[in-house]
Amino acid sequence: MRASLRRRILLTPADRERSAFVTVPFEVPPGTSRIELGYGYEGQGRPGAASVIDLGLIDPRGSAFPRFPGFRGWSGSARTRAVITTRGATPGYLPGPLAPGTWQVLLGLSRVPPKGVEVEVQVDALEEAGEPPHPLPGPPRPGPPDRGRGWYVGDLHAHTHHSDAPGSLAELAAEAARAGLDFLAVTDHNTTSHLPHLRACSDRVLLVPGEEVTTTRGHMNAWGLDRLVDFRWQTDAELRAVIDEARTRGCVLSASHPVSPGMSWTPGYDLPLDALEVWHGPSGERNLETLAAWQGLLRAGRRVVGLGGSDHHCGRPGRPLASPTVWVLADSLTVEGIVEGLRMGRVVIVAPGVPPPHLVAERDGRRWEIGDTVPPGGRVRVRCPAGTRLVTALGEVEPDAELDLAEHGFVRGELWEPGRRWPPIALTNPIWGRP
Ligand SMILES: [Zn+2]
Ligand SMILES: [Zn+2]
Repeated sequence: MRASLRRRILLTPADRERSAFVTVPFEVPPGTSRIELGYGYEGQGRPGAASVIDLGLIDPRGSAFPRFPGFRGWSGSARTRAVITTRGATPGYLPGPLAPGTWQVLLGLSRVPPKGVEVEVQVDALEEAGEPPHPLPGPPRPGPPDRGRGWYVGDLHAHTHHSDAPGSLAELAAEAARAGLDFLAVTDHNTTSHLPHLRACSDRVLLVPGEEVTTTRGHMNAWGLDRLVDFRWQTDAELRAVIDEARTRGCVLSASHPVSPGMSWTPGYDLPLDALEVWHGPSGERNLETLAAWQGLLRAGRRVVGLGGSDHHCGRPGRPLASPTVWVLADSLTVEGIVEGLRMGRVVIVAPGVPPPHLVAERDGRRWEIGDTVPPGGRVRVRCPAGTRLVTALGEVEPDAELDLAEHGFVRGELWEPGRRWPPIALTNPIWGRP
């Protein structure tokens, strides 16, 4: 038995106004082993086209927000077709049992012109599994050796063919190994199809599960997930529900490239975000605006972690991996260790090849590191490499300063090449003076 769907639907600005997503239901009969999905519209894939429509798939478990139990894949506007079988699927889509019942094609209305756009959707549910595209991976590799507590070097923001980059996860992992990284977070857009493959590719480099939750209102990186963080939020209240749900299951969340034309973070910072991407490789001097916003949040007493990422798209030129590079002080070289280091703000962002600058606070023979909170009890001496600018809630202080951190709120370091506007050599996270 086989089932097919061919439908033409007109999507208009009024539809876009109602919701950024439209679903098209179809029936999958018992005994289905392969689903083939495709769509087309005028101008599809052309740079600067008037219409951009995204593609995804939902199984009978449904689309309840924000848990999205029936999520089966998303390719944004990067692909025109996808195949799912029990043993493999087009990257971006999740292989596994193809339960009979009502499935839905998910269309994202990223850009709809005034006259509307006619989209043709095709689905075939087949009994023959055929060749599985991109089969599920082999057994997990042991991963790189864990050196215990220490500073580990990596990159927090990279993409593969599981979303909009041409290169595979294995190619990305090989690049990361050549770059000498200990860890690399793979943050493909709006999917988790890379997650089952991470441990099979983690050999010399620890691959950390991530997702860049990508919307027309801004992008948000999530690390430490075991299933999707819902990307279908549209209102501020829905975003808050997504953040709350993801944080209760241990994810660390960060607004990506907050100042970036067409991709800026528009919901603002009155949200329980863990972090901000204050140094986004491709954003250049626009990062200065984010750096100022971060300082404003810190001064207001918000404990927001500053992070960096290259936004490398594997196999695409530009945006080199590990530019910037991130050092994380972690208890172990494990996913849990790295994610906990991020959450605690034990992070330094540096230009490629720069070692982590040691910023420490000392008092009566005790020492506090980046991410620590100094308990009340008098002034501390802050040690840092020569040339570091020390920034507190009350402004800049002298190097090797003695500070009452309860009064100064926090101290963090910035290292700049003289006369250079961007990039810095290094940005540290704070040592805190208040809980
Ligand atoms: Zn992004
Ligand atoms: Zn990205």
